[in-house]
Amino acid sequence: MGKGFKGVYDHFLWSSKRKQYVKNVKKAKKHKCILCAIRNGKLKSIVIYKGDDYFVLMNIYPYNLGHLMVVPNKHVTGFINLDRRIVRNLMTGVQKAMKLIKLTYNPDGFNVGLNIGEYGGASIDHLHWQIVPRYKREAGFMESTADTRVVPETLDEIQKDLLKNVSKVWKK
Ligand SMILES: [Zn+2]
Repeated sequence: MGKGFKGVYDHFLWSSKRKQYVKNVKKAKKHKCILCAIRNGKLKSIVIYKGDDYFVLMNIYPYNLGHLMVVPNKHVTGFINLDRRIVRNLMTGVQKAMKLIKLTYNPDGFNVGLNIGEYGGASIDHLHWQIVPRYKREAGFMESTADTRVVPETLDEIQKDLLKNVSKVWKK
């Protein structure tokens, strides 16, 4: 699943791979909604878990090791008027995604957030939570310059690590 993104990932280490990055962004822009396209299997990505109400995705431009996204299956753009049952299931998804990261990488903290609306910094309309693990010694593997982030594992390795623990978090 994750192999196709090797080039994208490399971008964060060597900006000479920028061409590949631009190509991937162009491909993504062809879709009306990137997250719906991923859910429908029309756009390649790294889905870690698929549930009835939501799916969990690896952020392929990670801010940090283990950065995940929790996305409702339905294309919804707001949070305030969401059905209470869906909210409950989505929040369980957020909780489980955090548990998965904790089990896999044992971070020291988290930033969990929703960006809603253009002025809220949302680059994608489709509601989604960003779940960013934080580590005491981030300087060791997180570059601070704007265009380059260094994560110590490849996306393929991160995917493999996370998948090992999926069944412990989402029990049948
Ligand atoms: Zn959508």
